[in-house]
Amino acid sequence: MQKYRMRIGGKWVDAESGETFAAFNPATEEEIGQVPLGSKADVDKAVVAAQEAFPAWCKKTQTERSQILHKVADAIEEHAKELAELDIVSHGTPRKPAFFGVMGLPQMFRYNAEASRSFMGQVISANPNKFCYLQREPRGVCALIVAWNAPLVGSSKKLSAALATGNACIIKPPSICSLTVLKLVEILEEAGLPKGVVNVVTGFGDTVGETLSSHPGVSMVSFTGSCDTGKRIMSVASNTVKHLTMELGGNNPCIVLEDADVDAAVGYALFSSFHNSGMVCAATGRYYIHEKLYDEFVERFVAKARKMVVGDPTDEKTDMGPVVSAEHRNRVEDYIKSGVEQGAKLVLGGERPTAPPLDKGYFVMPTVFASVTQNMRIAREEIFGPVACFIKFSSDEDVIKLANDSTYGLSASVWTRNTTKGIRFANEIQAGTIWINGDILGPEYPWGGYKQSGFGKENSILGLEEYVQVKAIFFDLAERG
Ligand code: NAD
Repeated sequence: MQKYRMRIGGKWVDAESGETFAAFNPATEEEIGQVPLGSKADVDKAVVAAQEAFPAWCKKTQTERSQILHKVADAIEEHAKELAELDIVSHGTPRKPAFFGVMGLPQMFRYNAEASRSFMGQVISANPNKFCYLQREPRGVCALIVAWNAPLVGSSKKLSAALATGNACIIKPPSICSLTVLKLVEILEEAGLPKGVVNVVTGFGDTVGETLSSHPGVSMVSFTGSCDTGKRIMSVASNTVKHLTMELGGNNPCIVLEDADVDAAVGYALFSSFHNSGMVCAATGRYYIHEKLYDEFVERFVAKARKMVVGDPTDEKTDMGPVVSAEHRNRVEDYIKSGVEQGAKLVLGGERPTAPPLDKGYFVMPTVFASVTQNMRIAREEIFGPVACFIKFSSDEDVIKLANDSTYGLSASVWTRNTTKGIRFANEIQAGTIWINGDILGPEYPWGGYKQSGFGKENSILGLEEYVQVKAIFFDLAERG
């Protein structure tokens, strides 16, 4: 059994306690390694290592830092196969999306390497007798706390922006998916990142995560995860007044208007509901379909969902793998049960597969509910699994109200051939990202929610802004004496 170690101060180390915990392959339920069980003592060590590495890293020129980030991007491409294979066995991501996901990571490092070069300063020429310039400076030691649904993407988004702006980092990988993050850090240092600039402490949220979030040596916490954990971090981080970014949950509406291109919308919906087994913060939580299209839409969606290949993630033909853990499968199944109990019509899936080879592994079959109403739990809460919920609507005014009737506001999508209507909907919907007739995500586009989906942005120049503090420096130009 492979024994993994954490990375602190450029060294592979065990937990101070010597304790470990098991990592599992979610498609087979087999143990694939033992990971150090970090605690407060390990966090303290990592904070010291990051504090020691910070001054030299932040004093490098922007060009020097950017060159290292470009080398990191090249190194990720060289190691893409290893990273993807590890993602397949540790997260259950099917082969094709695993490679696709890894090949998106270099873009994040390259974008931030370049965007940060034109970003660090500014002159304010508001008064001819005063000279004022703004200097953007790194925050110091940043704790990057990552969710399990996409640990490589989540870590790379945060790391590329934090490093480009001169910060030192401590990553806390999700406890059920640490292995890809440990490999990523090995690649960063091989590519020339100085030792100690990025450290990884593995372990559980209530010990490692919470110690980082309250640690006096940490200046910022960039968090991705659930709303409840986000609230807890905000509370423990308040004692030391840390800068926070909160990328929290969502329950994103997709509105299909009467004049929509149904083919395109069904294609989008299928990907939105079942990519990464529905464990995507941007996935659609509620489909609002105009009554004139409703039956046709649900029928076409179900016909395509029925044909999806669910199973072994190592097989090229697999469309959808398992969910990430037994605990999460129970949670998704609990939502399915509540949908049935509250009167939604189960039109596909809902059962745990029992025939080999799917009798092993945390599989949930593509599941579709029709006749869903707004007050059901499956419509109000974030399921975070391969479950699509369809709601019928008849009036534009009503559907906007229904879409906004949520504590969340992460993203939304609207399907219509009427551009003016699309923009009008975008103006009315309370969410951080609105897609009209198709979606896109990437390092150039800001990502971050409204309401309880959090605050602060990732990606884009706005994402870089989060990792700096701004100093205003004034010269008085008056001639004296
Ligand atoms: P989670 O909140 O359980 O865990 C997220 C991370 O926080 C993990 O690393 C965990 O170990 C750590 N953690 C747990 N308790 C902690 C504590 N008390 N203090 C500090 N850290 C702690 O979330 P999850 O179940 O891993 O991820 C699913 C959630 O993440 C969903 O709600 C999803 O919508 C959200 N998410 C949001 C985005 C976004 O961009 N908005 C992206 C991905 C996932």
